[in-house]
Amino acid sequence: MDAKKTSNRRQFLKLSGFAGAATLVPASHSIASAQVRAKEGTGAAKNVIFLVVDGMSHGTLGLANQWKLRHEKVAPHWLQLLQRTGVRRSLQDAASADSPVTDSAAAGSAWGCGQRVNNGAINFDPQGKPLKPILVYAKEAGMRTGLVSTCEITHATPAAFVANVEKRDMQEAIARQYLEREVDIILGGGSRHFFQEQADGSIVDYQAKFQEAGYRLVSNRSELKAAASQDRILGRILGLFSERHIPYAIDRKNDPALADLPGLAELFRAALTSLDGSKRGFFLQVEGGRVDHAGHANDAGAILHEYLEYDNCIPIALEYIEQHPDTLLIVTTDHGTGGCQLDGQGKSYLGSGPALDRIDRLKYSFEWLQSRFRASGTFSARDFTRATGIKPTAAQSEIVQKALDAEEKYLSGALIEAFGEQLSELTSVGWSSSKHTAEAVDLFAVGPGAQTIPPYLKNNELFSYLMAAIGQSSLS
Ligand SMILES: [Zn+2]
Repeated sequence: MDAKKTSNRRQFLKLSGFAGAATLVPASHSIASAQVRAKEGTGAAKNVIFLVVDGMSHGTLGLANQWKLRHEKVAPHWLQLLQRTGVRRSLQDAASADSPVTDSAAAGSAWGCGQRVNNGAINFDPQGKPLKPILVYAKEAGMRTGLVSTCEITHATPAAFVANVEKRDMQEAIARQYLEREVDIILGGGSRHFFQEQADGSIVDYQAKFQEAGYRLVSNRSELKAAASQDRILGRILGLFSERHIPYAIDRKNDPALADLPGLAELFRAALTSLDGSKRGFFLQVEGGRVDHAGHANDAGAILHEYLEYDNCIPIALEYIEQHPDTLLIVTTDHGTGGCQLDGQGKSYLGSGPALDRIDRLKYSFEWLQSRFRASGTFSARDFTRATGIKPTAAQSEIVQKALDAEEKYLSGALIEAFGEQLSELTSVGWSSSKHTAEAVDLFAVGPGAQTIPPYLKNNELFSYLMAAIGQSSLS
C-alpha cells in the first residue's frame, strides 16, 4: 500500500462526520483482503457507471413510452435496452429493513453497503452500526469517484454511495464526508448545505474548504465545461448549480430565466469527460433525482419531461461503453413513486391518445407555480393558465390561496385538490397516491459481470456484483 493510499485510508477511518464510530465495517460478510483488481473473467471492470432514476413507477415509463411513440415514433432508450444483445435485465425486490415500501435512503444503502437498513438511514444498520459504502471501497482500490444528481447533491441516493449518517437529513455531515472521502467529481444542486453554521453561530463555507483541498469550484454551465476538460484525469470538481434542487427539466425548457442551468445529460457528460482515462478506472453514480419529486407532487408534465431528460443519458452511457467495453453500466430505479399511469379514457379508451397531445399544454411544474405564488403571496390565475391552459374558477383559486396563506410546505396538495380532476381529464394520467410504492423495479446491466446478475434479486444483493466489478470479492 503506497503512502497516498495509507493516508486515504486514515482519512476514511477518521470519519468525523458522525460521532462515536471508530471504524466502518463491511455489511454481513467479510471482504477478501486481496485488493488486486482481477483482470478478467471474474466480473471485474475498469469503470462502473451507475445510472439511477429516483422513484420511477413502471407506469411512468409506460406514459413516456406512449408519448415518445406518438411524438417521435421511437421508444424510450430504457425500453430500447431490451433490444440490445449483451444486456442483462433483472427485477429487484426493493423493500427496506423495516418496511415493504422503501425510501431512497434505505434503497440507496442496499446498493451502497449490501445490507437492508431502516427507512431514513444511510449505511447504518438497524442496530446503529455504520457500514462501509461502495465508493469508499472503490477509492481504496485506486479508482476515481463521482456523484452527479439533479437533486441537492447531499440527497439520499448519491449520499448512499459514499456516506454514513443515521438520518438522511444530516446533509451537512454528508457534505463533510464527501470532502473527507475525496469524492473526485461532485455535480448537482444544494449549495445551501455547504454553508454550515457552527455551535458559536459562525458560518463555515465548506465550498472554500473543498477549494483549499484542490477542488475547482464551478456554478454555471460555461465554468463546468471548462473545468471538465481542464481537469481531465487528475482534477477534482465541486459543481453546485442551485441553492436547492436543480429546477425541473420542464421549467428549464420553458422559463428563459432558468435556461442557463445545466441538465442531467450535460452534468453526466462533464463528469465522464473528467473521469475518462483515469489510470485505475472510476465509479460514477448519476442520478435523475426528480422523477421522484414529480411523482410525490402528482405533476404529470414535470414527471414526463424529467423522465425523458434522464432517458437521454442512456445513449451517452452506451456510447461510452462501446468505446470502453471494460465498463460496467447499471441502469435502474430505486422504487416507484406516485403510481403514475396513463389511464384509459373515453369510449374504447380512444381519448387516451389525444391526451398525449394535450399533455403538451403543460408548460411549467407545480414547483414553478409555487415559487411564483410564494414570491407575491398570491395565487395568480394568469400564471396558472400559462402553466396549464386551464382557467381557474374563484372556488379553485381560493383553495390554493388558503394553502398559500397557511404556508403549507408544498402547494401540490392544494393544486391537486383544486384542479386534480381537470388535470387528469386533460392528460389522462392517474396516480395511486403521493407516496412511494412497493413494485419490483427494473435493473439493466451491460459489461463485465453483467450476465452473472440473476434475473430476480433483492436490491441489497446487487452490492456483491458491484464489489466484483471493482475487483473486491465479497465472501458470504
Ligand atoms: Zn421519494
